[in-house]
Amino acid sequence: VMERDAPHVVMVPSSSSGHAIPFLQFARRLAAEGVVTTVVTTDRHVRELEKTVRSTDLTPQGEPLRILGLRDKKVEISHDEWRRQVREVPEEKLEVMRLLREAVTDVGSPQSWKLRGVAPASPPVCILHDMFVPWAQEAAEKLQIESHLLYVSAAAALSVDLESNRLFDEGRLPITRERRDMVFPDIPGLSPIQALDFAVPYLMPAMYEWMRKYYSRFRRTDVILVNTFYDMEKPVLDALRNQVIGSPDMQAKCILEIGPLLPESHVNEDTVEVEVEERDPCILWLDRQAPNSVLYISFGSFATLEAPQLLELAMGLEASDCSFLWIVRSPNAHGMSAASGSPEPVTEFLPLGFEERMKGRGMCYSGWAPQTRILKHPAVGGFLSHCGWNSTLETVCTGVPMLAWPITAEQHLNRRFLVDTVKVAIELKGNSYTKEELEGDVVRPARFIPKEEIEKKVRILMQDAEGESVRQNMQNLREKSREAGAPDGSSRRNFEAYVNLLHKKIH
Ligand code: UDP
Repeated sequence: VMERDAPHVVMVPSSSSGHAIPFLQFARRLAAEGVVTTVVTTDRHVRELEKTVRSTDLTPQGEPLRILGLRDKKVEISHDEWRRQVREVPEEKLEVMRLLREAVTDVGSPQSWKLRGVAPASPPVCILHDMFVPWAQEAAEKLQIESHLLYVSAAAALSVDLESNRLFDEGRLPITRERRDMVFPDIPGLSPIQALDFAVPYLMPAMYEWMRKYYSRFRRTDVILVNTFYDMEKPVLDALRNQVIGSPDMQAKCILEIGPLLPESHVNEDTVEVEVEERDPCILWLDRQAPNSVLYISFGSFATLEAPQLLELAMGLEASDCSFLWIVRSPNAHGMSAASGSPEPVTEFLPLGFEERMKGRGMCYSGWAPQTRILKHPAVGGFLSHCGWNSTLETVCTGVPMLAWPITAEQHLNRRFLVDTVKVAIELKGNSYTKEELEGDVVRPARFIPKEEIEKKVRILMQDAEGESVRQNMQNLREKSREAGAPDGSSRRNFEAYVNLLHKKIH
């Protein structure tokens, strides 16, 4: 097939790793199917992506996938800066949007092929964008091409987002202090959810004010793709198809679940990995541990614990007698840091002599961990996780059961689902809020989890008979995830349907 005859898709990711990793994975899959795929983002992000691309083993080889920066150096904007712009600058005047429009027009033009030395491609048939770059949708409207949304979190979170404008109109959002005991029984496909399990933007009125625009856009996109699979979120996907698609203010004619979007080597046991000398300290350490004996602990790419909680976790781990591999990030009072993933000194935040006492049984590592390889390692028997959606899918695909410790974003919602609905995770229960916390500004303060709770739940997950059903449920879900991605599996069929849909657009 000449590339000129292949459909051309422009993809616009957002910059956090948790969004960019699955996004690029999807770009790679499209490219492998012969779809010309151009990823367009800011120059700064291209440089960040280059790191992620390497570290997640996504390097395209000979496939028509190109990653382009918006070349204008003036738009070297950071994530925070464009958030500010989106809040304060009218969309029409958004610099990134103008540049994106230009870029999209440009990548389809003959001058551009010559300039960049890339193979000729037809003008793009659509802009496929992340949930956090709604201006890409606006750009598509201006260019009169379709916009498609690749939603990289759970269908459950999507259902909440799609319903949120109605809830706002009914005076039930955002979640303020007065509303924090409310229960929401009417989100399509979800069991009643507690106000405090809503994602962060709903709990911060100022942030909600501008995120509301984003959410209302989701109803104006032409196709919605979700990084999940049917057997994992059946009721939500059914409800979205039956109740949401087809409603008068909903533009999308289909929702396709195409997950899990993970590297082939992670999902498929038969993939032969190239023999290279293993140098990663985490993997080398795991190689010396007994099968299923190690608890892997990570809070994702940016969440952090506060200092007293970090100490408490260390003490709980020590008391549990369990082996562990802990990706430690230095503490932060806001539960977030721009974790670069580079090793940083963390010893000062751990109990005195902790690492020395844990030698042989526990390893603390502060660099960027090769998470998918860790979860696949036979020594790993449990995952204490912040319930980020990628971490969730990665652990589901390897059948490693979870201890749930949500911190921010939509992780509390994911936790409810993992603990109560699919029952593949055990919940770590926190202390009740103090009087000061209840009266403070923060709607959902972090709940302190005491060491006794940590010790107890680690033992249940890793060894006690009480944890057997959770371990078994995770094994079952793992099988389902494989079926979904296998030839003729539900996600695979949906992906093929999407590729066909793109092909139809050029004929
Ligand atoms: N990740 C990794 N090494 C780390 C931290 C994170 O490889 O040290 C990867 C992880 O495998 C996952 C992504 O970064 O693919 C994090 O996404 P997730 O949705 O779990 O959480 P987020 O970071 O967005 O909160």
